[in-house]
Amino acid sequence: MVEEKFDVIVVGGGPAGLSAAFVAVKAGLSVIVLERGDYSGAKNVFGGIFFTNVLSEMMPDFFKDAPLERNVTKRRWSLLTSDGEISGEYKFNKFNKEPFNNSFTVLRAKFDKWFSEKVEQAGAMLITGAVVDDFIFDNGKIKGVKVRMDDGEIYGDVVILADGVNSLLAKKIGLHKELQKEDTIVSVKEILSLSKEKIEERFGLNGNEGVAFEYFGYAVKGAIGSGFIYTNKDTISVGVGVTIKSLLEHKINPNDALEAFKNHPVILPLIRGTEQKEYSAHLIPDGGYNKISKLYTDNIMVVGDAAGFVNASLFHEGTNLAVMSGKLAGETAIEAKNKGDFSAKILSLYEEKLKNSFVLKDLKQFRKLGKTLEKNPQIFNKYPIILEEFVSGLFTVDGEPKWQKEKRLFFELMKKESIFGFIKTAINLRRVIL
Ligand SMILES: Cc1cc2nc3c(=O)[nH]c(=O)nc-3n(C[C@H](O)[C@H](O)[C@H](O)COP(=O)(O)OP(=O)(O)OC[C@H]3O[C@@H](n4cnc5c(N)ncnc54)[C@H](O)[C@@H]3O)c2cc1C
Repeated sequence: MVEEKFDVIVVGGGPAGLSAAFVAVKAGLSVIVLERGDYSGAKNVFGGIFFTNVLSEMMPDFFKDAPLERNVTKRRWSLLTSDGEISGEYKFNKFNKEPFNNSFTVLRAKFDKWFSEKVEQAGAMLITGAVVDDFIFDNGKIKGVKVRMDDGEIYGDVVILADGVNSLLAKKIGLHKELQKEDTIVSVKEILSLSKEKIEERFGLNGNEGVAFEYFGYAVKGAIGSGFIYTNKDTISVGVGVTIKSLLEHKINPNDALEAFKNHPVILPLIRGTEQKEYSAHLIPDGGYNKISKLYTDNIMVVGDAAGFVNASLFHEGTNLAVMSGKLAGETAIEAKNKGDFSAKILSLYEEKLKNSFVLKDLKQFRKLGKTLEKNPQIFNKYPIILEEFVSGLFTVDGEPKWQKEKRLFFELMKKESIFGFIKTAINLRRVIL
């Protein structure tokens, strides 16, 4: 087993931990990454789009050899009704040129592995199959970590906790509270095989272009959550995410929610003829800004999902927050090493850096999102139905004069929801979505 002492111990070889390791090792610090999977990415799950705005600062040419699936040029947000959808989308050709809007679909098993190899090439030691269970204390101070293996004691000046959502280690030292039902999303996802040609034809794509379709409203049987479809090279990722609280209230289980989503008349034609290649489930921290726990203490920093850094608004960003927080923790470790001081006083720089970055600024902007959605369940159950009635009624071709139809539909709409109700919901949503 490894016996030397490191400047930096990183627990977790996902995007956050690997970014911290990359930055620190590039500056000449000795770094070890401990990853419980057989390789980085082995068990990692996401939608999804890997947002590379921060990665591209660290590795400007990364897209030349990173295992990227497709460049996301088209995004669509849909309100699913019981049998249809009302949607808005963009598609920009400029997003198919460098830097590709920093938005790529990836498969984490390939991407995280590639990233970990870059970190190793930069000089860090990566140990896989290494589950970190606890800390090593000396006179009340953290001096390292205990790995679940013979002689598994590893010493270091600073431990960066990048062990993902529900960080058991952060909880152990009181930096993380138990996740609450309303602040935690359960997500289930399938990777379905579909030929490259069919993907391009079905989703209206040229070459390496890709789409991200996100669905609200009846995506998860009226519960608070959403569904998604992302295109990869020759597979598509399909999944749903629902808060645990809403799952319990609606008495739905996540598998049934995914089946219902896949069988929705809007979704079915998009996944027809596919075969399941992979099935996975994962939690997403959804507490946002108000639930961020303490981010550092003597000899410790917490990054990525372990710190709760996910922006679950319309933007659905987590990977870039993970990479940014890892980068800033890596930079803070370098400053601490230069000063020879890894105390909380010096590590508080990490929080300062986060406050000046998009990570805490964005999370602060969307801090009321969770509560607002919880207080406005009509967005997920009542509104999709009445909007469907209004829009489908308006466009029904039946010879009824337009002015008469508009007036009738408007009065029918007003019986179901007042103008005041709509405006209030719109203002609430405006405050938390954009
Ligand atoms: C279904 C789903 C869809 C998503 N879609 C998107 C999307 O489209 N775009 C986006 O930007 N974000 C998305 N996210 C969020 C994004 O995946 C996360 O924010 C991001 O992966 C966080 O990176 P991380 O390194 O902090 O954690 P993780 O990626 O979870 O990595 C943590 C690592 O720590 C390891 N580990 C855990 N415990 C230990 C231990 N005790 N010892 C050693 N190693 C340990 C794990 O094996 C893992 O490799 C999605 C998440 C989910 C679940």
